[in-house]
Amino acid sequence: AAKELGKNRYVHYDSELDARAVEHAQLAAELSHALERDELHLMYQPVVDLPTGRIVGVEALVRWEHPRDGMVPPLHFIPVAERTGLIVPMGTWILRTACRQAAEWQERYGDAAPDRMSVNVSARQLLEPTFPQTVAAVLAETGLDPSHLTVEITETAVFGGGRAVETVAAIHALGVSIALDDFGTGHSSLGLLRTCPVDVLKVDKSFVDGVTGTVEQEAIATSIIEIAQALGLRAIAEGVETGAQAERLHTLGYRLAQGFHFAKPLRSTEIENLITLAEDDGSEPAAA
Ligand code: C2E
Ligand code: MG
Ligand code: MG
Ligand code: MG
Repeated sequence: AAKELGKNRYVHYDSELDARAVEHAQLAAELSHALERDELHLMYQPVVDLPTGRIVGVEALVRWEHPRDGMVPPLHFIPVAERTGLIVPMGTWILRTACRQAAEWQERYGDAAPDRMSVNVSARQLLEPTFPQTVAAVLAETGLDPSHLTVEITETAVFGGGRAVETVAAIHALGVSIALDDFGTGHSSLGLLRTCPVDVLKVDKSFVDGVTGTVEQEAIATSIIEIAQALGLRAIAEGVETGAQAERLHTLGYRLAQGFHFAKPLRSTEIENLITLAEDDGSEPAAA
């Protein structure tokens, strides 16, 4: 087709698009086997209590170890999994794996275990009317108490229409916490707080980056903690990379934070090492 178009200037773009479509199709095909071939695993990033440094929770983050290309970042393959619908079975696997891990830690470590397991759920999963039943079934099967589970959704996912808000409400009714991820970056952040049951605001890294800057730069992080306090919601500052940011966030009233300054996403065994280290010196697990 490119030849027929002759000197047409679109030929270049056309073949580039073709190449990308092929790459996508190949990625989708390989991804469809990733589950059965055991190429997926979860990492867990600590959420810490700023005043004490204790690990109060972890966020499960999926990783794909591609046999040829190595680690493929989730921002690369999650959108593909969403488009093909593969995110539905994959998301159930992620939820089950995370809940099983959390239940195991609760049983083994009791109070020393991270209190909450957070699992990211994509827009496509919320469009499944049976998703709340899936969550209930996974909780029953793993024996995890719903109070230990948080489901992270994005504003765009709930805005995506359908019955997403009803689906979220049904999950909330099970006793599971709902966190709004990347809070502040969507179109309807504040309006959503009226229509959708939300327990946690996860303040996007882009706003956390500003907290050591000018008053104007930190204004959004300041406003979000005020909103959270006024509405009785928890707030988690995401992407905290420096001690100065952590201190400033604490001063602004933040209690919970997550970021490379405390810990990167870790393997489950590394989380267990942190728990036992803390048990050994009689303190609660701390990340930094
Ligand atoms: P997210 O849910 O907002 O997750 C936070 C991302 O920020 C993670 O990237 C984490 O590794 C990264 N991060 C944490 N602390 C820092 C920091 O201090 N600095 C910087 N620069 N980055 C930090 P990751 O694991 O690559 O995940 C990216 C996104 O992919 C996630 O954003 C989430 O939207 C999606 N994702 C990851 N795992 C899952 C999953 O299991 N299911 C679904 N549906 N989406 C997932
Ligand atoms: Mg998240
Ligand atoms: Mg986030
Ligand atoms: Mg984010």
